[in-house]
Amino acid sequence: MQVLRTVAELRRWSRALRAASGNTIGLVPTMGALHAGHASLIRAARAGCTHVAVSLFVNPTQFGPHEDFARYPRVFEADCAVAWAEGADVLFAPAVEELYPNSADSTLVEVPVLSQRLDGQSRPGHFRGVATVVTKLFIAAEPDRAYFGQKDAAQVAVLRRMTADLRLATEIVVCPIVRDADGLALSSRNAYLTPSQRTQALILSRAVRHVESLVAQGERRASVLLASAHGVFAAEPEVRIDSIALVDWATLEPVETAVPGTLFAVAARVGSTRLIDNAILS
Ligand code: AMP
Repeated sequence: MQVLRTVAELRRWSRALRAASGNTIGLVPTMGALHAGHASLIRAARAGCTHVAVSLFVNPTQFGPHEDFARYPRVFEADCAVAWAEGADVLFAPAVEELYPNSADSTLVEVPVLSQRLDGQSRPGHFRGVATVVTKLFIAAEPDRAYFGQKDAAQVAVLRRMTADLRLATEIVVCPIVRDADGLALSSRNAYLTPSQRTQALILSRAVRHVESLVAQGERRASVLLASAHGVFAAEPEVRIDSIALVDWATLEPVETAVPGTLFAVAARVGSTRLIDNAILS
């Protein structure tokens, strides 16, 4: 596995492969601290493409001024081991200046409206940062497919809309949420949790499962499903709800009635750690 540090190197790698027929490039964008969720994306890329690049970049523009950019886990050696074990061909790990050469007045990519919904409401500018860095990665790697987790379902909606609006050639592939045995969705931020906070955090997946079971029993009314999800959180009063929503997965607009494909999404703070979870209702 090669470690590449510059856009020029990544582009050279990609272009050389594209010159030969039959090659397909899969890109797995990550911020590192790789866990089994990331590994599942790399495996999906491995299965779907002839060549796989994993990017490792803690993207400053998607963090708010009081968020955890400085303390976000950075474990390069361990990440190399995971990417290597899962069969990545290339690990793209640029410095901040490489992706943002003119940081003072950088060009930004914004998906209007969607960027302000769900996580965008409590994290202003977050999705602009995501759309911007993913655009840079797509331009550099020219991937046939890029792999993202359903865990960040609003991000998927923003990126699907962005690729459609810009008529980008990259296909967005969405992979299922990988969870610990007790249901907690894997996240690099779980490392911030104390043992007791980790127990409290299970309330997110419990709320998701609860809503899924109500839907399975035939309940469709958003007002009932949302009230019921709020009720689940009452069992963990120290967990502060950020948002609980039932939305159309494409537009992120609230719905009144759940239908197959509706996104149920929760975000909550456990201590100072913001966690998210969701289900696409069937
Ligand atoms: P991150 O490093 O947190 O920016 O995540 C990189 C990619 O991994 C994103 O597409 C995430 O949605 C995905 N991801 C993160 N956690 C999980 C998980 N538990 N299961 C599946 N994919 C995940």
